[in-house]
Amino acid sequence: MSSPELCRHERRVCAECVVVTDAARRAYDAVQVHVFGTDWSERIRSWVALKLQDGSSDGVLYDSRLAAVRHVPDQRWYAFFSFRNAPQGFASLKDAQLFIDYHRMAYAQGAQQALADPDQPNGGRELIMPTPLEQIMLQRGLLLNGLN
Ligand SMILES: [Zn+2]
Repeated sequence: MSSPELCRHERRVCAECVVVTDAARRAYDAVQVHVFGTDWSERIRSWVALKLQDGSSDGVLYDSRLAAVRHVPDQRWYAFFSFRNAPQGFASLKDAQLFIDYHRMAYAQGAQQALADPDQPNGGRELIMPTPLEQIMLQRGLLLNGLN
């Protein structure tokens, strides 16, 4: 769990100061399993539920965020990884840690906008990572797409 204090860059979640933990290793592996085990065309429409406490997954590849949300005991304990912009999974363990840290922070701060609405067909809103972190993820996705 990241410290509630700000880092030397005065950020709560920082791409420069992030420390990789076992949770990130589990999350990274849980996502990679599907990269190797599922066709690209199916994968890019799919989601993985990652438990924030330890980065573990139930091993299920969900065909929608809503399906993943409905399946977990409490969505506030999870982050939902989409392959849409990241067909090759997390670019690095650091990326996985940032993903987990960001969701932990957002939920700890009571980010209600992060919660899906299971009554809505599209699952309602989803948490949008702030631009600097999002760009890390997107640029990684674009780079890998370019290599394929
Ligand atoms: Zn920092």
